[in-house]
Amino acid sequence: MQKILVTGATGRTGSLVLTKLRQHSDQFISFGFARNEAKVKDIFGTTKGFYLGDITDPETLKPALKDCDALIILTSAVPIIKNLPKEGEKPTFDFAEGGMPEEVDFLGQKYQIDLAKEAGVKHIILVGSMGGTNENHFLNSIGNGNILIWKRKAEQYLIDSGINYTIIRAGGLLDKTGGIRELLVGKHDNFLINPPNGLPTSIPRNDVAEVVLQALIADNAKNKAFDLISKPEDDSTAIITKDFKALFAQTTSGL
Ligand code: NAP
Repeated sequence: MQKILVTGATGRTGSLVLTKLRQHSDQFISFGFARNEAKVKDIFGTTKGFYLGDITDPETLKPALKDCDALIILTSAVPIIKNLPKEGEKPTFDFAEGGMPEEVDFLGQKYQIDLAKEAGVKHIILVGSMGGTNENHFLNSIGNGNILIWKRKAEQYLIDSGINYTIIRAGGLLDKTGGIRELLVGKHDNFLINPPNGLPTSIPRNDVAEVVLQALIADNAKNKAFDLISKPEDDSTAIITKDFKALFAQTTSGL
């Protein structure tokens, strides 16, 4: 039985991943890691199976990683809306103190990777975002956080750590039903630069969660980094993805 830790488990994708893993309790003993006890209770009804802490505080992470076989990183800096925009205005965003992308998406991920290595964790799955090859991507301007730049640095840090890695760079996340679309993998932001047949570059969070689960199971998901989108559910050319080994066979190593 493998022990799996999901950080960012109160997040919109992290909570789906943890729920999915718990549906496979014959294969995995799954734990969540979160900083907000009330949110854990709200989503899961109990704090049972949770470690409470902050990824920027290594002392709280250490016990969670003890005897852990795989770590799933779903933490991310969370932008806070600064103003209520008037008509025709765009909202502006900020990050909480201590919650800048450099602190969460780079240092926070680095702490997790370093401590996981120390604890003998054998596989780390990191969920991030497409767009990191473009320094001028608009997401980098949010709260002057350069979020995609820091996320990409953390990806490189993970690759260099020597631990088996799976880096999943999702397209725009949708809160829609999973398991009813064809999933597409790519690299180097090619979907953003040149969308295949003008497809929207998005994917349901539920499908990302399934790819995370399958990446724990399939050996050929190890030491791979890839972009991930889905065809729209009404796409007449779509063949619903069911064979995840075949999907991972299309992915490659390195950033
Ligand atoms: P999310 O809901 O924003 O969740 C982020 C999680 O990180 C939350 O659980 C948050 O805790 C946790 N967190 C942040 N700082 C922390 C800290 N210091 N210690 C412990 N936990 C901390 O994430 P999501 O929208 O599901 O996105 C998942 C990933 O996909 C992210 O990397 C995101 O950038 C990426 N992505 C997003 C989009 C999109 O369209 N939004 C597109 C592509 C990729 P709290 O619950 O306490 O706040």
